[in-house]
Amino acid sequence: MPTYDEPSQRIPARECDVVVAGAGTGGVIAAIAASRTGAKTILVEAKGYPGGTAVEGGTALHSFFNLHTAFPGVPKRQVVKGIPQELIDRLLRVGGTTGHAPTLQGTGYDSYCTAIDTELYKWVAFEMLVEAGVSVLVNTLVTGAIRDGEQILGITASSHAGKEAIFAKSFVDATGYGDLSAFAGAEFTEPNDHPVANSIGLGGVSIERYYDFLKKQDAIYELARGDYDGKSDQIVRLSGDERKYPQEMRQAIHDMGMHTVTTTLHTDYLMFIKLNYKMPVSPTDRDAAAQAELELRRRQVLAVEWFRKYVPGCENAFIARTSPSLCIRRGRRIVCDYDLSNQEVIDGVHFDDDIMAYGFHDCAPRLQVKDGGTYGIPYRALLVSGIDNLYATGMMITSNWEAHMSTRNTVACMGQGQAAGTAAALCARNGTSSRNLPYNILRMTLLADGVVLDN
Ligand SMILES: Cc1cc2nc3c(=O)[nH]c(=O)nc-3n(C[C@H](O)[C@H](O)[C@H](O)COP(=O)(O)OP(=O)(O)OC[C@H]3O[C@@H](n4cnc5c(N)ncnc54)[C@H](O)[C@@H]3O)c2cc1C
Repeated sequence: MPTYDEPSQRIPARECDVVVAGAGTGGVIAAIAASRTGAKTILVEAKGYPGGTAVEGGTALHSFFNLHTAFPGVPKRQVVKGIPQELIDRLLRVGGTTGHAPTLQGTGYDSYCTAIDTELYKWVAFEMLVEAGVSVLVNTLVTGAIRDGEQILGITASSHAGKEAIFAKSFVDATGYGDLSAFAGAEFTEPNDHPVANSIGLGGVSIERYYDFLKKQDAIYELARGDYDGKSDQIVRLSGDERKYPQEMRQAIHDMGMHTVTTTLHTDYLMFIKLNYKMPVSPTDRDAAAQAELELRRRQVLAVEWFRKYVPGCENAFIARTSPSLCIRRGRRIVCDYDLSNQEVIDGVHFDDDIMAYGFHDCAPRLQVKDGGTYGIPYRALLVSGIDNLYATGMMITSNWEAHMSTRNTVACMGQGQAAGTAAALCARNGTSSRNLPYNILRMTLLADGVVLDN
């Protein structure tokens, strides 16, 4: 490939205590936590709004609770609170979430469905960031890291205004893809072990008739009910057991990579129908990703046709929402000081340096955390190997595919975000490196800020 030597250039620079790269699921919480812990915090986000994959892939946040419904006699416990729950409380006040709606069928998978309105989430998260005093730079891409030995000194970023440098004492990589860590020279792998996806919202549909259609075929797998649009006992989550569909329908679903699971909090709106596509190479490959974007848009149109053709009440279905770009379940996996195993997850192991407790596994009911309990994510799991002032959060940690099927879920990413942002701020304040931060100080701060630690 031809190359080009970029001429050196003087660019504007600014300084702060903590830079959080990526205002997604974990990054929003990390930036709020860092700012509230007293750090002058800058959050850099490529898109025009915060939310990340929670609003484009997730939409049903898994899970604030232990899987008590799968274990008779095990009490219900909320195991993630703190800033993530505060965000839910704020959303509840504006009709932006169903709250924690109980799962009535498929209870071995998750006890609750916490569905969020994809659009109100963006607004509420933005408001919370600004109220917390975070400088939010949207439409700004992190393009590089300025490194000196084991330290990152700053990042470079690019926006319509041009290039700039932002210097800080501590950094959180919450980009999902692990861009900042990779730019800083951290070790990583690119497993490419999941399909990419672009979800759609479908208007012009009847969710009640979709439910009747699935019921008639004895094909309801998951059902959760909650409140929205001023009405109680509404369908919040509904998924079909695709094995029970007639062959022709099943084949079409398979060919377009569709999952007939939806969440919603609006009458006659399927807020989330997901189309998958398995890329032949890692989604960090820009040109291959362009092909995938087109393929996913083609599949979205096929999905609408499927609903119009097969599901009564959906004859006038149309695409009401798409994600601006494809979503990934895993881009780069960043090597950190500790790598959680699936055995530790399902055995419910806790560590001396836990930063959160978590109880959901996306392979349930096949794999569940023992006895409806929790496992701990250790502080070490967030420390990017070889770099003294960089934390990794969210989908970029955990190498094992099955363990990652737990730690990558939205609510786990949020909890990691609160811990990473808090720790980054404490390091900045105390002038210490991530590895020298006394765990007890972090623990006390997290507990004071509502985090649940089960150890
Ligand atoms: C299709 C799909 C369905 C899913 N379903 C569920 C579900 O039902 N429930 C559940 O709990 N989980 C679900 N997940 C998993 C979960 O949503 C994600 O793992 C989680 O949201 C990831 O959070 P994160 O903070 O790591 O990254 P993200 O939320 O993706 O945040 C990364 C942010 O960084 C920004 N960014 C990236 N690169 C740069 C850069 N260079 N400069 C600046 N900004 C940058 C992005 O724009 C984004 O806002 C799903 C995932 C997918 C893909």
